[in-house]
Amino acid sequence: MFWRERRCWIFDLDGTLTVAVHDFDAIRAELALPVGRGILEALAALPEHEARERFVRLEVIERELALRARPADGAADLLDALTRRGARLGLLTRNGHAIALDTLSAAGLARFFEPAHVIGREAAAPKPSPEGVLLLLSTWGAPPDDAVVVGDHGSDLVAGRAAGAATIHVDTAGAFRWPEHADHCVRSLAELLP
Ligand SMILES: [Mg+2]
Repeated sequence: MFWRERRCWIFDLDGTLTVAVHDFDAIRAELALPVGRGILEALAALPEHEARERFVRLEVIERELALRARPADGAADLLDALTRRGARLGLLTRNGHAIALDTLSAAGLARFFEPAHVIGREAAAPKPSPEGVLLLLSTWGAPPDDAVVVGDHGSDLVAGRAAGAATIHVDTAGAFRWPEHADHCVRSLAELLP
């Protein structure tokens, strides 16, 4: 597979490196946000005084979830194999940076990532924008055709494709809803091991 030998691997966090626990509809309901729209996008559309209080509540919810994070099947083995063959590892999440680091720690995966290569919503426009992918590639001085983006949602795949990287969709359910944006589809990260 053409993506196997690539040296820059950028992962989504929730539902990709960790077992999915976020019930986004429940979070939307708790924050009184509309159904069917991204939480960050819905918050950004509110007047600032209304958004601020909900944003604080969102961070409380995310922190609670972070502490319960568990690694996805095959995550540690894959990251270990990539590290040993000298790949660069980055993480791009719609979560905040501090919460992403807490999530990695709780899931036992923090040792694989330099904190500077964990890109949260403070540092780049949220996926599906390719900004975070391009930021990591520019940090590494690497071209997009040496990069792979791995994620469980269409927004991860769209971001990777828009940046010019290869895209891998991980879907434990095997439904693979975004075939047009994925170069490769797997049900488990373990399938990506050499
Ligand atoms: Mg995800």
